[in-house]
Amino acid sequence: MVIFITGICHNDCFYCPISEDRKGRDVVFANEREVKSMEDAIDEANAMSAEGIAITGGEPLLKLDRVIEFLKTFKDLHSHLYTSIPASYKVLSRLKHLDEVRFHPPELKNVKAYEEPIRVAKRMGMDVGFEIPSIAVSEEIVEIANKHDVFLNLNELEFSSTNYENLVKRGFKPNDHYGCSNCDEIVRVYAERVKKFHYCSARFKDRAQLRRRLIRMAKNLPDFYIVTREGTVICGYVEGDVERIKRYLDSKGLKANVDYVVVEGGIETSVEFVERHLDELKRLGTNVFIIERYPTFKRIVVEVNPL
Ligand code: SF4
Repeated sequence: MVIFITGICHNDCFYCPISEDRKGRDVVFANEREVKSMEDAIDEANAMSAEGIAITGGEPLLKLDRVIEFLKTFKDLHSHLYTSIPASYKVLSRLKHLDEVRFHPPELKNVKAYEEPIRVAKRMGMDVGFEIPSIAVSEEIVEIANKHDVFLNLNELEFSSTNYENLVKRGFKPNDHYGCSNCDEIVRVYAERVKKFHYCSARFKDRAQLRRRLIRMAKNLPDFYIVTREGTVICGYVEGDVERIKRYLDSKGLKANVDYVVVEGGIETSVEFVERHLDELKRLGTNVFIIERYPTFKRIVVEVNPL
């Protein structure tokens, strides 16, 4: 589960991909669910059977107490934190439940400042490394990563609506999955020279990681949802007076949260049920559809077929 601790950051990296609605705002998200209380984050973790948390931002360490609260709440899960701050011993020692720290020198500047935090975090038993986008080869990152035997996670430079113009101005070119079409040489050099090297392409992040999360969430929904290979779910959707629809479903022996689920504006149930009882449902004054949607909190619908 990705925990976006805050949209506030003291840097202004030219490649910052954070969306307008989060950038510079002190908001918290667990995946795409806005977190107003810790309960929201716990619900989201349960909905996807989370096995780990990735703490990110903005700059998470600007909200240190909040980070500590999340680490405490999810102490049984694996945790990693992504930060642009070369954190001091005092800060790192407060991150008791943290398993892994990933340092991101903004625009790959001032890399030497991370050497001491790397040493300290290693001594504390954390996994440690750099995490950077594929904007350039930094000799200092290669040297420090190898010298301290820490990893380098290289992310394919990603184009977003907020960084597009900046990237194009600097000569980067987008490919058909919003990654970078002229960053291959940078990836090759790091891959050859850094001992502990991992690469994450934009396509992998988008397709494999997202799909995996969707499938985990879909599998936690009641059995009547049909789970697709992409991780979306298909079901019947009855739109109308919820209390009236519920009374009808209950009279047919259906159980709430097992055979149907109340959602905004109506209920979701099996495709089979809505097809079999279509006339009666329509007599209740409802609109009936078969829908395909994401199993996420926002329930983004990808296809609607009216019956
Ligand atoms: S450090 Fe991260 S969040 Fe801050 S401006 Fe740079 S890319 Fe954006």
